[in-house]
Amino acid sequence: SIIDIVYRSQKPCLRWLLGWLSISLSSLAGLPEMHQMMRQTCRDYADRELAPIAGKLDKEHLFPAQQVRELGAMGVMAVEVPEALGGAGMDYLAYSLAVEEISRGCGSTGCVVSVNNSLYIGPILKFGTPEQKDQWITPFTTGEKVGCFALSEPGNGSDAGAASTLARQEGGEWVLNGTKAWISNCWDASATVVFATTDKSLKHKGISAFLVPMPHPGLSLGKKEDKLGIRANSTANLILEDCRIPLGNMLGPRGSGFKIAMQTLDGGRIGIASQALGIAQAALDCAVDYAHKRTAFGAPIGKLQAVQFKLADMAVAVESARLLTWKAAMLKDAKKPFTKEAAMAKLSASEAATFCGHQSIQVLGGMGYVTDMPAERHYRDARITEIYEGTSEIQRLVIAGQLLKEYVP
Ligand SMILES: Cc1cc2nc3c(=O)[nH]c(=O)nc-3n(C[C@H](O)[C@H](O)[C@H](O)COP(=O)(O)OP(=O)(O)OC[C@H]3O[C@@H](n4cnc5c(N)ncnc54)[C@H](O)[C@@H]3O)c2cc1C
Repeated sequence: SIIDIVYRSQKPCLRWLLGWLSISLSSLAGLPEMHQMMRQTCRDYADRELAPIAGKLDKEHLFPAQQVRELGAMGVMAVEVPEALGGAGMDYLAYSLAVEEISRGCGSTGCVVSVNNSLYIGPILKFGTPEQKDQWITPFTTGEKVGCFALSEPGNGSDAGAASTLARQEGGEWVLNGTKAWISNCWDASATVVFATTDKSLKHKGISAFLVPMPHPGLSLGKKEDKLGIRANSTANLILEDCRIPLGNMLGPRGSGFKIAMQTLDGGRIGIASQALGIAQAALDCAVDYAHKRTAFGAPIGKLQAVQFKLADMAVAVESARLLTWKAAMLKDAKKPFTKEAAMAKLSASEAATFCGHQSIQVLGGMGYVTDMPAERHYRDARITEIYEGTSEIQRLVIAGQLLKEYVP
């Protein structure tokens, strides 16, 4: 487990210090020791291995392959997967803490971790047969392989039930035709969960989920999108032209694809909230640090009330979003309904991230606007968190829909 790795890798005195620190922080933060350990391990890794190279990865659009393998060895690529299947055997709160800390070091790497854990592995863990889990999860726990999730299409993103990618049965095979759009990880992925309809007249009830290896005959990729942020993570169209897969590659029952997608996104939104939190925290850290060091009018700018107010507002936004995110994760772990809380967490954390990214640049002044400092990258990386896995408008619809159900007069 991750705890074993940390304990093995430290000298005895450091081990004792780490244990003591972890217990003290646990009680302060109200988190169990196991979670504090995961948080601290990922924080140390992000500070040491990700933050120093995140700017280069972003500038050169480099997939962090080596780092993803190291995260796999730490259990971070399959946090919730049982140890028998090769995962860390931990829970969703641990996953949330890991994604936050990794994203604090590098927003792009946070996206790779989040997509592999919640969008690719998540639905297979919940809906897959034992054979599917062995085949499609275990090789994706180590960081050697990553997966992706293909729901959106050029003609429909928010309206996911209008999928037009077709699946027809021909003998012992499914034949897939259509184009999926905006697929994260796809240039670096070894498999994907694809959503396609077997009967368009049934609308969302005609959609099923399929497992497709990558590369595979009949499956090709579009050009890598040239994005505003999370530029070390590939995004592209996934094109299916008479792509044949065995009948056994259907995930869950026929016609349950929309339900699988929506339930997957409920969990995925906690991952994106966590990614947003990490980016927001990094923007805040950068601003506080600069406020200490930069002097204007003979004193550090941190002495100026105008700057202090910005820092305070950023800290409140981050901390309140963090509590919502932990609440959503804990509800999921307790097997209680969490759709509304996950949407609330994603909405508040993604808006906190864009707010903090914006304010951090302001605190840094001119230095916030150039790539010598990470503030401009945090600002760019933050923006996607308000768009993918449901835009902020869709989160508000989900929250309001749940509220109206709860308060039927
Ligand atoms: C970098 C990146 C990575 C992505 N990764 C993936 C991935 O891995 N897998 C995947 O399947 N998809 C992925 N997506 C797609 C993403 O989930 C969609 O872009 C998103 O859901 C929005 O869909 P859309 O772009 O079609 O916008 P549209 O649905 O066309 O929306 C346009 C605008 O209209 C608003 N709107 C739409 N419907 C409503 C409504 N009913 N009420 C109020 N407002 C509404 C939206 O909020 C938005 O502001 C990714 C996108 C990007 C940019």
